[in-house]
Amino acid sequence: MTINSLNKINEEIISCRRCPRLVEWREEVARLKRRAYRDQEYWGKPVPGFGDPQARVLIVGLAPGAHGSNRTGRVFTGDASGGFLYPALYRAGFANQPWAESRSDGLILKDIYIAAVAHCAPPANKPSLEELNNCQPYLERTIQILKPEVIVCLGRIAFERILGMYSASKLGFKFAHGAAYQVESGEWILCSYHPSQQNTLTGKLTEKMFDEVWARTRELLHNE
Ligand code: SF4
Repeated sequence: MTINSLNKINEEIISCRRCPRLVEWREEVARLKRRAYRDQEYWGKPVPGFGDPQARVLIVGLAPGAHGSNRTGRVFTGDASGGFLYPALYRAGFANQPWAESRSDGLILKDIYIAAVAHCAPPANKPSLEELNNCQPYLERTIQILKPEVIVCLGRIAFERILGMYSASKLGFKFAHGAAYQVESGEWILCSYHPSQQNTLTGKLTEKMFDEVWARTRELLHNE
């Protein structure tokens, strides 16, 4: 049931053309390509959610990378952010392997599902407010189906969107790496810096800090 419902959302996501600016950008990037990937066929469509349909943990990212998941068609796959995220999930026991290169690389997530606040690659990695609003129903439906116990927000934008969805924007919850808040309905919202190179190369987000996020995630799950 859950898997069918998630598959249905993902089919709708993949064929979505609601945001003209993003449709144009994702397709142009796929046509022009980066020199290093010129022999590859880019995905060039919205990137659907990915992971364990029985997951108790939902990761919410920002948006696909132009030459990462917009190329490979799977979240956090084929770019530096995924190169930081998946090894951490593997170390924490949430993934069967630390690498993520293509949709057929054998990666399986355990108890984790990954979604995003925008499913299309945006110019300069910045979806507009209107584009975030357009995409939000997909995330809301994903949450309704999965009913996650813990939502890990990668970055402030993901955190603020999730707070809005839980009508928790006025509760004074502030984004801070490692902060965890419980909403009235019982779910935990856990904040992390986004594992983009901007944060990982500058030392703002270290492996140790990221490992602590996944250890905390385990602590927050019931029956762990
Ligand atoms: S960002 Fe979301 S709403 Fe906009 S075109 Fe992509 S999938 Fe559709």
